[in-house]
Amino acid sequence: MLLNPGPVTLTPRVRAALARPDLCHREPEFAALTQAIHRQLAAVYADSEHHAVVTLTGSGSAAVEAMLTTLVPPGGGVLVCCNGVYGERMASMLERAGRRVTRVEHAWTDALDLGRIDAALAADPGLGHVAAVHHETTTGRLNDLDGLAAVCRARGRGLLLDAVSSFGAERIDFAGWPLAGVAATANKCLHGVPGAAFVLAERAALEAAAGQATTLYLDLHAYWRSQRDGFSPFTQSTHAHVAFREALEEFAEAGGWPARHAAYTALATQLRDGLAALGVQMLLEPADCASALTAFHLPDGLGYAELHDRLRAAGFVIYAGQGALAARVFRLANMGALSAADLDRLLAECAGILAGE
Ligand SMILES: *Cc1c(COP(=O)(O)O)cnc(C)c1O
Repeated sequence: MLLNPGPVTLTPRVRAALARPDLCHREPEFAALTQAIHRQLAAVYADSEHHAVVTLTGSGSAAVEAMLTTLVPPGGGVLVCCNGVYGERMASMLERAGRRVTRVEHAWTDALDLGRIDAALAADPGLGHVAAVHHETTTGRLNDLDGLAAVCRARGRGLLLDAVSSFGAERIDFAGWPLAGVAATANKCLHGVPGAAFVLAERAALEAAAGQATTLYLDLHAYWRSQRDGFSPFTQSTHAHVAFREALEEFAEAGGWPARHAAYTALATQLRDGLAALGVQMLLEPADCASALTAFHLPDGLGYAELHDRLRAAGFVIYAGQGALAARVFRLANMGALSAADLDRLLAECAGILAGE
């Protein structure tokens, strides 16, 4: 059982889709599949009709990098909100691509400081976009996008959102937030396999981005033009796309993002309450956390490696903290085909380890 934040444990139905007959990416069957995935992704959130879906082959970072290096013009400036690894990764991607970056740094355990972000935008009209992470998987924090979106809207700046670990499980307000682009992946909250990623980009921004990408392979505009007929400029991960379509079908049948959010919340609450009863503390307040993952303090006297190896032997893969948090925390994601009974078994193993058995 995978309790890391993607790739996830697959459902039997998605796993079976991987064994379907092989497809050529230049044949009409695959074009129809691509168009079906686009329709499914466009239907996940209300009010996304001003955004076009573009599908790519790669992990979530490929989608984020394609969004940033296509939608931010060469010479453009971006304010990047940093309160974890993934905000910092966006700043690095933009710098590598020669864009001008202003980081608004925070301690990784802190909420976004909207006052400082607003002041930085006021001071520098050249910062045309704001880049932020929705669910900062480093700590499990769900950043305050309503607050950030209000600042961006008041200052007339477009928002570039890394929604890699939130798309499909958290509210994304396409009508209310000034979203230039939203990047995500098949293999986190949507329960597909790694290799298929996507961006929902504002149509006007995509149209204006002709020729401005500073990458050939990840040029979203080129993909978008070509995918209007279902075809892509380069070979797509055909099997990952077949599995993605099945995962999206399963997702819609189960009730879409509100149902997934409710299911994740129930599993996360089970983990948080179960570990609290064993004396294990959360890194953040529950009200600040996304539904898909929780970071916990390592109990005194128990190192990550020992906890990992004991749980691994019992059939569970958990996840370490990153950077300075590596020595202090462990993380449990509750994405994928997991049941309450699976988590009961996990909690029983944890109880044994903590009792020194
Ligand atoms: C997982 C993740 C990514 C992308 O990681 P990949 O390894 O490229 O899939 C980006 N941002 C966030 C917030 C993530 O959780």
